[in-house]
Amino acid sequence: MAGERVIRRLPRDTGVTGWDAVLPPKPDYPVAEGSITADWLVIGGGFAGLSAAKRLTELRGGDKTVLLEAGRIASGPAGRNSGFMIDLPHELNDSAGYVGGVEADRLQITLNRQAQDFARACAAQYDMPAEAVASVGRTNGAVNASGEAHNHAYAEQLAALGEESIQLSADDMKAMTGTDYYSSGLFLPGAVLLQPALYIRELAQGVSRKEPFPAVIYEGSPAISFERQGDGWVVKTPKATIHAGAVIMAVNGHAESFGFFKRRLMHVFTYASMSEPLSEDQQRRLGGASSWGITPADPMGSTVRRHDGIGGNRIVIRNRWTYNSSMEVSEARVAAFRRDHERAFTRRFPMLDDVGMAHSWGGRLCLSRNSVPAFGEIEPNFYSACCQNGLGTAKGTLSGIAAIELATRANSPIVQDLQSYDEPSRLPPEPIASLGATIVLRWREWRAAGEI
Ligand SMILES: Cc1cc2nc3c(=O)[nH]c(=O)nc-3n(C[C@H](O)[C@H](O)[C@H](O)COP(=O)(O)OP(=O)(O)OC[C@H]3O[C@@H](n4cnc5c(N)ncnc54)[C@H](O)[C@@H]3O)c2cc1C
Repeated sequence: MAGERVIRRLPRDTGVTGWDAVLPPKPDYPVAEGSITADWLVIGGGFAGLSAAKRLTELRGGDKTVLLEAGRIASGPAGRNSGFMIDLPHELNDSAGYVGGVEADRLQITLNRQAQDFARACAAQYDMPAEAVASVGRTNGAVNASGEAHNHAYAEQLAALGEESIQLSADDMKAMTGTDYYSSGLFLPGAVLLQPALYIRELAQGVSRKEPFPAVIYEGSPAISFERQGDGWVVKTPKATIHAGAVIMAVNGHAESFGFFKRRLMHVFTYASMSEPLSEDQQRRLGGASSWGITPADPMGSTVRRHDGIGGNRIVIRNRWTYNSSMEVSEARVAAFRRDHERAFTRRFPMLDDVGMAHSWGGRLCLSRNSVPAFGEIEPNFYSACCQNGLGTAKGTLSGIAAIELATRANSPIVQDLQSYDEPSRLPPEPIASLGATIVLRWREWRAAGEI
């Protein structure tokens, strides 16, 4: 395809992510201006884009890398998620339960652990605060017989894979969380809990300070058009023209805004709220450990974290899902779901009736119908590291690493895996796709009501 191609939509993030808001203000990266030349242009400053930039510092330290972020580093989905960087798959697959074929699952677990190792290595190399990347595990919390049955089946499947999980009783759950809301739990020791905004900020700072050839990061600098020129690419932002040898498109669902994978990506939002910091008295009333992470036994339920760090000791609740092919949601929607977060909070923590929510936000995820990534060299020297299927902390990290390994012809197991999938499958036409997805989401939420 020749000529200049216009990027149809730019990202819009609704509500302020608490993970970023509780951190001290960070210095801004500059806005891209004028004529810029680079060997590598990474578009998108989330897990995929920053991991790609980091891998470039390792494999192509002498090359010039430029990274464009449309908004501010850590204010997009990468700084809005719940921070569960999981090793074990947790998506409930309708046909086969939690895990698919044994060999495929083993490979996924191995690769997810490589993503975790990468995050831990970055944390050590860039001297991140301990809360940025904490290898503390997570618990699948059950609140009723159906959740317990999920956990039971999951534990058996994990045992078949040779993976450890530890059954927790209602008393164990109360000892950890301070609430008697959970009837049991399944502790999965391999999960890493991120303070996502802190990790993303520190990763950006690390790659942009790498001497002698730092990655040059620009914020508030959306790519608005791109065009092939010779072997390379010309990408425009509102104030700059960038000539790059190769482009890594790391924009998750916005790949569709670039004109790729049209009608093949599902744009889903989920929502979270973060509490005010708990006072010492409130922490005493609650009891339990000062930090922990609970994923729901049914994936449609609430994830809940108690986090202790620079921003104080706070509780974060995530629930509710919507399908938005427009890739945008309104402030009113975030405000409405904040009430669901408040209800979920009150049900779990009645002893904290004087604690309110300080921040509420929504965030984009990108899924494909057949749960595959949108990955590869999609045009000469133009690489896609998109569509993380809701597990972007690990999968985004892997796809960013793999895009660089593919581009530099390093034949790694991550590249082989990401290249082994079919293309994302085609969606039904609108409005059938939106209607169908909305009905499925509402039905699954209704079924998981006890866990919300
Ligand atoms: C509330 C919530 C909870 C979640 N919890 C978890 C969890 O616990 N664990 C987990 O693994 N995942 C979770 N996720 C999903 C996770 O956040 C995403 O999968 C992940 O952020 C995807 O990473 P990415 O780097 O591919 O894309 P993104 O993080 O979306 O980064 C892409 C970046 O590209 C930028 N961009 C887009 N278009 C342009 C353009 N034209 N020019 C320049 N820049 C552009 C965007 O601004 C964005 O910053 C959650 C998501 C939400 C919203």
